[in-house]
Formats: sequence, structure tokens, C-alpha cells
Amino acid sequence: MSLDLDARQRAMLEEMHIHVWWPKAAEQPAEQAAVASVPPTPAVLASAPSQPPRPQPRTAPVSIADAMADAPELAMARAPGPQPAVQARAAPSGPIDSMDWATLQEAVAGCMACALGAGRKNAVFGVGPRSEGGQPPRADWLIVGESPGEDAEAQGEPFVGESGKLLDNMLKAIGVSRHGSADGLPHKAACIVNLLKCRPPGNRNPAAEEVAQCEPYLRRQVALLQPKVIIAMGRLSVQTLLAESVPDVAGTPLGRLRGQVHQYHGVPVVVTYHPAYLLRSLPEKAKAWADLVLALDVWKKRTAAERLTRDAAVGVQAELG
Ligand code: URA
Repeated sequence: MSLDLDARQRAMLEEMHIHVWWPKAAEQPAEQAAVASVPPTPAVLASAPSQPPRPQPRTAPVSIADAMADAPELAMARAPGPQPAVQARAAPSGPIDSMDWATLQEAVAGCMACALGAGRKNAVFGVGPRSEGGQPPRADWLIVGESPGEDAEAQGEPFVGESGKLLDNMLKAIGVSRHGSADGLPHKAACIVNLLKCRPPGNRNPAAEEVAQCEPYLRRQVALLQPKVIIAMGRLSVQTLLAESVPDVAGTPLGRLRGQVHQYHGVPVVVTYHPAYLLRSLPEKAKAWADLVLALDVWKKRTAAERLTRDAAVGVQAELG
């Protein structure tokens, strides 16, 4: 794989105490050196579904909540700050797995499926590039954290504190951003979401029941976004996303799940440490960097596979006249 990092990105990695070995001018190309410095990336994605390109103008960064600004009926879910009272109900109306993006966001904002709904200031649906006309944002990358912290809940946006800064810097080093890509296309745009959309009081660990009630929202986000790669951060997200594909995932240390490509409903998943943990454990940052390099490799292979499929389809069309 190739990993083209410019001087600014390398400086950023150094700042994060991630030391990547770079060759002197006469030695091997930078991308080979970068790969040589991280554990091997064993997994290969064999095939990928074809997604036709959807041109979209370059737009400003926006939280997913703000991205729904065009839909007035969703106003209650948009702005940070206390939300107007919503009608309490045991679960969102209609099956979650058939909701469109706008309905899903509305359902999350009004969800009372577990006890967290009653105490919530803001549901935290996610952040990503601006979307138009109620469509999901266009982003190849989906980053999944655990549950909103206090700042995230207050602002209605995930990862806005110190761990968010670290996450943004690490993503920036591979050219990926929650603010979308410079050309408005999805290739380097990331959506960032949490497994839980509401903050557990006192930032306690989420309860199994809360995870069970919230996971269908994440599943639907994945189905609608169709990212090329998911990065699962932290033990709880990893356990939940891999529950169906890894036997005894609960008994497997996170470190043993790294360095492989897993699957969540047909989307490749790369496992890494939670940025809040990385802030406390500097040596693990190098491992997290290796995880990002693996995710980048997955993304590149999927992108190449899609291009091949698309070119083949165009060729067949041309043959058929
Ligand atoms: N803030 C979030 O939004 N999610 C986390 O997992 C941690 C902090």
C-alpha cells in the first residue's frame, strides 16, 4: 500500500509521540518505510459492492444534527441545548431498520427506550460532512466511539474534548476529517458516532440494556451511510460491533482483536484503542497509528475494487451498445 504523508502530517505524528521511521533521500520510498514500521496488515478485502459516484458541492463542516437543518420537522434535534419535551414512548415508532436518515435522527432525539432518555440534555447522533435533502452524509469512513461525555452531550456533537482533539489529529495525519474532504467527495470524509447516543450519568459505563436498546440505531446508521471502513474505538464498541462475528469477543482482550479486519453487517471493521485511553497511555499511540494505517489499507483496497467493478460495468454497457 502507499502512504503519502507530507512534512506537516509527519510533524503532527511526532507531536503525538508517534515515531514513524522515514528513509533518507537515497533509501526506499516513504510509503514502504511507513509500512515497514507497523505490524503487517494481513487482511485483504476480497470484494466490494459497487456504489455509483454522487457528485456533491464542497460544503462547510457541520454536525449531523445541523446537517438536517433543511428539514424543519427535525428542528428539535438540531441545536445543542435542552431539547423541547418529546412524547415519551417505549421505542421509536416504526422499525428502525426501515427508517431513512431524517426519521432515524428524529427517533434518536426522542428515544425513551431506556432510562437514559429521561435525563438527557441532548442526544448525540453523530458528526460528519453536511448532507443535502435529508440524505445521509457522504463519508467513506465511520468512526465509532462509546458514549457521549459531558461536553459531547452539552454540544450535541461527539468527541469535542481532549480525546476528540487527539482523534482529529490522528485522522488528519491520514488526511481524514469529520469536516469532510477538500473536494466535497466522500473519500476522506469521516462520520463520527457513538454506540450510545445518550450520556450515562456520571460517565459511568453503559449498561447492557442500554447498549441493546441503542445498537439498532448504530446498525441503521451503518446501513444508510455504507462506509468503506469502520474504526471501532474502545472495548465496548468493539465488543458490540464484533458480537456476531467473533466467538467469545467479551473474553478476548482488545489487543488480540487488533491487526485484523473484522466485519459488521458487511462493512470491514478495524479495532483500535479509545482516544481517552491513549491520552493516559502514550506508548499505545504507536499501536493506534498502526491501526489507522491498516484502516487506510482497507479503504484503498475497497476503493480500487469498486473502481474495477465500475469500469467493468461501463465496459459491458459499451459492448452492449
Ligand atoms: N466523547 C464521545 O462522544 N464519545 C466517547 O466515546 C468519548 C467521549
